[in-house]
Amino acid sequence: MEENCCIKIKNLSKSYKNQRILKDVSFDVKCGEIFGLLGPSGAGKTTLIRLIMGMEKSNGGEIILLNEKVPNKNVIESIGYTAQADALYTDLSAEENMKFYCRLYKIPKKERKDRIEECLSIVNLNNHKKKIVSNFSGGMKRRLSLAISLIHNPKVLILDEPTVGLDPLLRKQIWRELYRLKDNGVTIVITTHVMDEAAYCDRLALIRNGKCISVGKTQEIIKENECNTLEEVFLKLGDDSYED
Ligand code: ADP
Repeated sequence: MEENCCIKIKNLSKSYKNQRILKDVSFDVKCGEIFGLLGPSGAGKTTLIRLIMGMEKSNGGEIILLNEKVPNKNVIESIGYTAQADALYTDLSAEENMKFYCRLYKIPKKERKDRIEECLSIVNLNNHKKKIVSNFSGGMKRRLSLAISLIHNPKVLILDEPTVGLDPLLRKQIWRELYRLKDNGVTIVITTHVMDEAAYCDRLALIRNGKCISVGKTQEIIKENECNTLEEVFLKLGDDSYED
């Protein structure tokens, strides 16, 4: 595998029963970049992420993550993951949720307090740490989930729609923090169906109807396809015939 390659996806396919969800998907994510999976709802982004995480088995193709073939328990500890649905204990406080995940990731006891403070401050929740999570707004739960995915200092961060339901200010704040993590060498893979967010990513894979229809920098993708916007690229490349 080339140096500087963090995740290699090669000819990946996935079916549920007789339905083909992912069709021969290939792309590379480079170390230290923010890589966006952009596509409409139902395109297959979450399925792709679940395969990268080793939570689902593919029907063909290969995933190499940090030089190890997925699934592999050696690399799982290097990944921070936030699913679309928040995996939070709603009858516990934010801090208690963080403590739970500290134990899960076997973070040394003496480091826990500082790690929790640091991660909560990234998402601006320090002042709410004693609050019971069932009293949190949707946006606060999203931010807490992001803080939890950072608790073990992962090398790779995989985020499924982390900014969904957040107001524009918070969305900006989260992106600022993602940039800060990138500056510290973290590789970030993020799914979004919001075209605007593509501009924040270093590179993108456009996913439509289970296929990767284009990969590259936003401006390159737009130029190569002789379009003016990513929406136009989707319309141009995304034929809706369900030929497989
Ligand atoms: P996205 O994240 O882009 O919205 P998903 O990966 O969630 O897309 O879904 C892609 C397609 O796969 C959808 O048609 C969805 O209904 C289907 N799908 C996802 N998970 C399952 C499953 N466990 N069983 C059957 N179909 C599924």
